[in-house]
Amino acid sequence: MNESSRSQPEEGAEPSIPLEIFREVVEQAALAISITDAHAHILYCNPAFQRVTGYSTAEIVGRNESVLSYKVTPKLVYESLWAQILRQRAWNGLLVNRRKDGSRYLAELTITPVVGDSGKTSHYLGMHRDVTEVHRLERQVQNQKAMIESVVDAAPVAIVMLDERERVVLDNQEYKKLIGELGQEPAATLLGALHADLGEEFEQGRLTGRGFTGREVRHVGRSRKARWFACSGSWIEEQDGSADAFYEPVRHQYLLLVIQDITALKEQQEAIRVNALRAVLAEQERIQALRETLFGAIYQLQAPFNMLAAAVRMLERQPGGSVADSLSASLAEALDKGNATLDTLRACIPSQSDENITPVDLNAMLKDLLRLFTPRLLADGITVEWQPAGLPLVSGRPTRLATLFKALLENAIEAIHDNRGGRRELKVSTATKPDWVEVVIEDSGPGIPEEWRYKVFEPFFTTKGADRQHIGMGLCSAQDVLTSHGGLIELADAPAGGCRARVQLPTT
Ligand code: FAD
Repeated sequence: MNESSRSQPEEGAEPSIPLEIFREVVEQAALAISITDAHAHILYCNPAFQRVTGYSTAEIVGRNESVLSYKVTPKLVYESLWAQILRQRAWNGLLVNRRKDGSRYLAELTITPVVGDSGKTSHYLGMHRDVTEVHRLERQVQNQKAMIESVVDAAPVAIVMLDERERVVLDNQEYKKLIGELGQEPAATLLGALHADLGEEFEQGRLTGRGFTGREVRHVGRSRKARWFACSGSWIEEQDGSADAFYEPVRHQYLLLVIQDITALKEQQEAIRVNALRAVLAEQERIQALRETLFGAIYQLQAPFNMLAAAVRMLERQPGGSVADSLSASLAEALDKGNATLDTLRACIPSQSDENITPVDLNAMLKDLLRLFTPRLLADGITVEWQPAGLPLVSGRPTRLATLFKALLENAIEAIHDNRGGRRELKVSTATKPDWVEVVIEDSGPGIPEEWRYKVFEPFFTTKGADRQHIGMGLCSAQDVLTSHGGLIELADAPAGGCRARVQLPTT
């Protein structure tokens, strides 16, 4: 029999290890090991035990394990320890221990009863290690976590962290308030809007870890009140803490979303913008009214002056005579003075202000105008259907375009107002066509008879009674504005009755 076959135990036989080896294992073990009698009196301790406790074998053997107690561990812990080991079951737990020098340490202890042939516990095996530092680090991490959580919770903005499947893994009080107010998972709604807004950039950001800041998202909830949120996102990577990922790190990516409710700010900005528009339009209206009045006066005066000029020409063709000559001279003088007065009036007509051509957001403009008309619409009980489409910007003069749409909206509202007893509906919609954008304003008023559809664009033509302050320049001016922008206006019957004004403006 050779050496290797001799060391192999026979099949089914217990491998025999010399007792000396067991002793050496215990002696050299890194764990503090002690063996006690059934009353916890120490019979043996290994060198690691001596290192951890500071007691030598001579000092500790024969003493009770309770010599290690710092007397701060609750009595209940010892009671449960003893209850467990007396039932011949192993016990594992944490005890506050005292070293020989009086310093304390946290011991993670396992006590295993050693049961003899008689079925009684003859000894206890105690194994413990100093876990003070591990516990300190664990507590530090827990404290930091608690501190971060309370800072996040106290933040005046909503904070939410989402995992790769966009499930909420952490949120704060402000975010919870949003859940209550929006009546659904706000992160899902806002992420949908952010995906649409950022497009490719969102996925690119996920891959490169580049976040985004201050993206504004509009949300209309069940109350139909629009709310605005400024969203910033940061991609955060976490290393998997599971055993599987110990040697082969697995990373998880989270999106930290910071959501700030900017509704109040937006409303304030909107109010400032609408007020500025109101002021500009009022000034424009004043100038327009002056222009229309002066144009109207000149137009009215021109007729008698034309008659006067005709009379002067007739008199000049008559045979000479002192009466006729002097009458002709007087009339000619009156005509010259009259024409000079007309020229003075013409010079008084304020010119249209020179406005630069800029990119115009028609949807925003129409929305602001509808806001401007809100008190009047409410007073008249008119319901508004606002259907904006995604529009490109158009190049134009903003104030002139606003005046044009204001005039069209005013006409529509007045037409609905006149239609007493009928439907009171105003529909404003926008659409994009290949080379132009379209704005359609439909009212539920009486409509415009077909024979007037072109006449209404003539100066001084009005379908409204003389009791109102209309001299019939509104649509004429509207057409002027459109002509100067290369656009078109067309009036027709609205599908449900009333008038439909369709405005087209080129996008190129
Ligand atoms: P004690 O009066 O000794 O005990 C408190 C309570 O524990 C009692 O009310 C009683 O319910 C129970 N109890 C104590 N002794 C017995 C017993 N013999 N039979 C039944 N119930 C009993 N303690 C430490 O603080 N640190 C250690 O590292 C440690 N290691 C141990 C290792 C082993 C192997 C064993 C068996 C025990 C160990 N103990 C240790 C427990 C220790 O023996 C004491 O029970 C403990 O320290 C409490 O001591 P005390 O003097 O404060 O109170």
